[in-house]
Amino acid sequence: MPQLARRTGRAKPSAIMAVAEKAKKLKAEGRDIISFSIGVPNFLPGDHVYDAARRSLDKDSGQYGSNRGTDALLDAFLHHLEGSGLGGYTRRNIVAGVGAKHVLYNLAEALLDEGDTIAYPTPYWTTYQDIADIVGAVSLKLPCPPEQNYKLTPAQLDAALAQKPKVFLFNNPSNPTGMVYSKDEVAALAEVVARHPDTWVLLDDIYNRLVFDGVGYHNFLHFRPELRERTVVIDSLSKTYGMPGWRVGLIAAPENVAQALVALNSNHITNLPEVVTAAAVAALTGPQDIPQRKCAEFAAKRDRVLAALAKIPGVVCPRPEGAFYAFPDISVAFGKSHCGVAIHNDVDFCNALLDAKGVACVPGSAFGEPRALRISYTCADDQLDEGLSRIQAFFAELA
Ligand code: PMP
Repeated sequence: MPQLARRTGRAKPSAIMAVAEKAKKLKAEGRDIISFSIGVPNFLPGDHVYDAARRSLDKDSGQYGSNRGTDALLDAFLHHLEGSGLGGYTRRNIVAGVGAKHVLYNLAEALLDEGDTIAYPTPYWTTYQDIADIVGAVSLKLPCPPEQNYKLTPAQLDAALAQKPKVFLFNNPSNPTGMVYSKDEVAALAEVVARHPDTWVLLDDIYNRLVFDGVGYHNFLHFRPELRERTVVIDSLSKTYGMPGWRVGLIAAPENVAQALVALNSNHITNLPEVVTAAAVAALTGPQDIPQRKCAEFAAKRDRVLAALAKIPGVVCPRPEGAFYAFPDISVAFGKSHCGVAIHNDVDFCNALLDAKGVACVPGSAFGEPRALRISYTCADDQLDEGLSRIQAFFAELA
């Protein structure tokens, strides 16, 4: 028998999807399931986005399009970047892809040879590790436990960059923790990055419009603009605009990196569809009231989650200030059992919680932190409250 390529053997199915699949199956069997598992924003974009998509169908050329993205899309993203204090890029710095996930994959292809090192803080978004594994890169994981609020310190970063990894990947606001680095924290990390010129910097900032409590969105480039020559800013329409299924991701990058991604696009996706592009332009340039309102709603949901978790003895949850995730340390449950089911670790915990209470959360080990679990809290408030009280009941029943 012929063999699969080695790299496909390194690709593991997403642990997040595994929980979601199990929850879906239980739901199909008639169970009352509350899903806190997938990171979906749970809202739809405004009418102007659908109108733009419909209008585009009326004049759809049906032809192949630009490998980079249409000028209208590139300009719309340039405008969006300006709104984030990142003006001064040109179309030659911008490339579109099929979601930030695709763009990240292409960046790994473009920047990492087999055996190269990519450094990133732990907890991390699961896909970072998977993409690194597929391209044969070595992951240098920088542990950021709950005791340090899941945040990377300048000293840690300095020590990591001293090892000259090819790439440093930084995600702010964070999936899975919801942590947001303050202005001073970002400035301090940017100073460290500036001292280590041999490393590419990838900033996965896709939650940059979902920041609470007036913390604001801060980026290394705000403090050290000269880092642009080796920094890539990654953005996506999925979370901000309620468009995860439309699959639009974008980067602002040095020209040579952008050109490499154009070449990769030309060899697999060719282009984003016209209808998708029209919708994306409308989302980026149209009224921003829905994303702004959703951000406020997510902050209020965050408060409900923290209030409920605070009532559970021994559970510690560093305060999320962005995205739509909470990442409580639930290790107080380890070594106990629920209705005779032993809980040794986060996976046991999530399985028992789903089986006993019908609440689906993702085990923290999927993100490199086995003491925690991830709650994605975008569902309706009544569902959220019900799910949280089931979690409280589950803890109360531990023996
Ligand atoms: N980065 C992070 C941190 C994410 O959480 C996600 C989606 N869960 C992505 C990138 C990918 O987003 P998309 O492909 O939908 O644009």
